[in-house]
Amino acid sequence: MHKLLEIKQNLEQVNHKIISAALRAGRNPDEVKLVVVSKGQPIEVIRAAIAAGVQDFGENYPEETISKIQAVSDVRWHMIGHLQSRKAKLVCEHFDWMHSLDSLHLAEKMERLLAEQNRILPVLLEFNVGGEESKSGWLAGESSSWHQFFSDIQKILELPHLQVRGLMTMPPLTASREEARIHFKKLAELQRSLRTHFPQSDWNEMSMGTSSDYEAAVEEGATFVRIGTSILGPRPAKNPSKPTT
Ligand SMILES: *Cc1c(COP(=O)(O)O)cnc(C)c1O
Repeated sequence: MHKLLEIKQNLEQVNHKIISAALRAGRNPDEVKLVVVSKGQPIEVIRAAIAAGVQDFGENYPEETISKIQAVSDVRWHMIGHLQSRKAKLVCEHFDWMHSLDSLHLAEKMERLLAEQNRILPVLLEFNVGGEESKSGWLAGESSSWHQFFSDIQKILELPHLQVRGLMTMPPLTASREEARIHFKKLAELQRSLRTHFPQSDWNEMSMGTSSDYEAAVEEGATFVRIGTSILGPRPAKNPSKPTT
């Protein structure tokens, strides 16, 4: 019960800040959808969030998510983390959105799996607009190099069971709010370029912003914000081999 109250209060605050940020930027607040990131959180916390009114959850690890998906109904599940292609089947069968499609190889694998199930999945393409080598997503730091991934995108747009709906990015965890804003502006610039080059596709969705920078993301055009700790509290420490109690 205590957790439910905490989540309700956090949701109220976060929603208030989302609305204020949208209005500051002259945007309609209804354009911004909240995905509550529940990775690492136990099922009781998810049930409390549902009781508080949450309908969209974001997860990074498909294996960890299946039991959660089976335990509750009437909510949507968003895959937001890097997906190894050998785990693609879990996402194709059980998730409602894929935010982190980051390679042609993965797209082709997902297309085959979705075709087998006669299922269409809305997806966002993930871009690494900061250009750090180690992160996932198409490297999109320099606008002069964007044409290098256009052929991948052309091929993905031709896959009938993947419904491309927009873009996603995740700034480095160390970025400050204003550093993150530079990434968000860059993603918006890329969105304009993709609209020009691939007008046959829908590029409207922009998945960007976490607990540390979602207000900046909303100001720069986010339509999905992915917020975990500011709503559900800190994630429990992950250490299954050494129980602490
Ligand atoms: C964990 C995670 C989030 C949420 O982070 P918080 O700091 O808990 O809000 C958002 N997006 C991605 C891709 C994540 O992995």
